[in-house]
Amino acid sequence: MKPKAVIIGAGVGGMCTAALLARAGYHVTVCERIDTVGGRTRTQVIDGLRLPRGAVSFQLTGALPKLCEEVGAKFELRPISKTWFWLRGGDGFVELPERGGIKKMLEMFAHVHGGNKAGAMTQVGLQMAMAKIGKAFKNPEGAADDAGGPTFREWLSRHTDNEDLLALFHAITSAVSAVNDFEYPAHHWFAHFSQAAMDARVDHFGMVAGGFEAVSQALADVVRECEGEIRLSTPVRSIQFENGRATGVVIDDGDGGDELLKADVVVSNAGPRATLGLAGEGALGAEYTQRIEARIKPVPIVLTFAVSDEPLFEPYASILAAGLERVVTAMPLTNICPEWAPDGRHVMSFYGTPKSCLEPLDHEDERRANIADVHALFPDFEAKGGRILDVQIRDLNDADVVARAWPGQHAPVTTSVENLFNVGDSCAPDGFVATPAAAMSARLAVDKILAGASAAPANETMEGR
Ligand SMILES: Cc1cc2nc3c(=O)[nH]c(=O)nc-3n(C[C@H](O)[C@H](O)[C@H](O)COP(=O)(O)OP(=O)(O)OC[C@H]3O[C@@H](n4cnc5c(N)ncnc54)[C@H](O)[C@@H]3O)c2cc1C
Repeated sequence: MKPKAVIIGAGVGGMCTAALLARAGYHVTVCERIDTVGGRTRTQVIDGLRLPRGAVSFQLTGALPKLCEEVGAKFELRPISKTWFWLRGGDGFVELPERGGIKKMLEMFAHVHGGNKAGAMTQVGLQMAMAKIGKAFKNPEGAADDAGGPTFREWLSRHTDNEDLLALFHAITSAVSAVNDFEYPAHHWFAHFSQAAMDARVDHFGMVAGGFEAVSQALADVVRECEGEIRLSTPVRSIQFENGRATGVVIDDGDGGDELLKADVVVSNAGPRATLGLAGEGALGAEYTQRIEARIKPVPIVLTFAVSDEPLFEPYASILAAGLERVVTAMPLTNICPEWAPDGRHVMSFYGTPKSCLEPLDHEDERRANIADVHALFPDFEAKGGRILDVQIRDLNDADVVARAWPGQHAPVTTSVENLFNVGDSCAPDGFVATPAAAMSARLAVDKILAGASAAPANETMEGR
């Protein structure tokens, strides 16, 4: 008899776990609340167009592609790996170097920053500021503390007061971690960009033909090939326990009654806070519950879609924008996947980091600012037949936030119950974000399951994974 695993949720974290366990000889059942796999990478239909609900950029190296290759999940990738940079008041869009780190980034910045047109004194001042920052990055003193340390903006401000440079790093921080640099722990910046964290990096990417959900569909095929099941439209109501172990989950039996799915191991992709709810009050112990409640905070985002008759932007590349009110990145979706708009229209998505990622959003102001940014980035928006298709404000209480936890403040994959695990974008080691984090959490959880994981010792810290 195969050991049984039940996975709650068919997001990237859940599907990666399911495919790894299925290949390792488990009988896997995935229960997904909604009628499709992919979670926040699923496709949504707006005005007849099939558009991404969340993730667009697939990191071409690291945790997720390695795992997909290992389990044999197949899908078509369209590498992009070019980013064009725009700075308010600069000389328009400039192509970023693909490699070369901070040094190349600063060279490019000097170019955008008025290039030869800027006055000699301005250029000298800028070069000095950049040299100082370059040096500070080589030895980031005072940033290596944990969450209690300075924010990235506080750390950077010790080395420069140049507003454009600060805007550049604000954009990079938001592009990578979806939070404001003035609210974001500096230690995570260095954890993410360190050489040791190459599996975590989100700088070499592509788009998935058919949308990012094709990744989860391919993982679902692997599960089915191994005789596992994906049960869609099957919300899990609760997790059951006996003698300090999880024994399975309760789902709807289709007639309004309860059905118990028994399992040797239960893995939740619903998010660590939701797992507490499914486990029921007290089931995971007061100490674990308090740690999760204190630590896990969601990250909001604003997603704007625009369509146009002519392309707003021609290159096969993503956009990084500095100095706007909210928008920090944009993706010309149909330049890479023209089949997404079969009628020949052009579609772009714009990603805005809210005024504060810690407070509930002022929806009206976020909408105004994000739309204003689209027009600032493309002054010819209307001349090209542009119109705003949708502005989606994913506030702190939205199921489809950009991240379920703040960078650097994730939960462990282990819980206080030996055979209950959490996976997803809020359960990866420091430095990881987004879908690479979800994949990495699956890898960690499955390694522990296969090694016959023992319960997290009571004194295990959130970092001690
Ligand atoms: C606008 C936006 C843009 C983004 N862009 C990118 C990007 O370009 N690249 C990138 O890598 N990442 C991006 N992300 C982040 C990425 O989408 C997420 O990090 C990732 O999809 C999270 O996966 P997950 O496995 O943690 O959870 P989720 O995708 O949230 O999956 C959890 C699943 O669990 C299900 N579930 C919850 N409760 C239950 C229950 N009780 N019973 C059954 N099922 C349940 C949910 O329905 C869901 O399907 C973006 C996100 C957003 C919102």
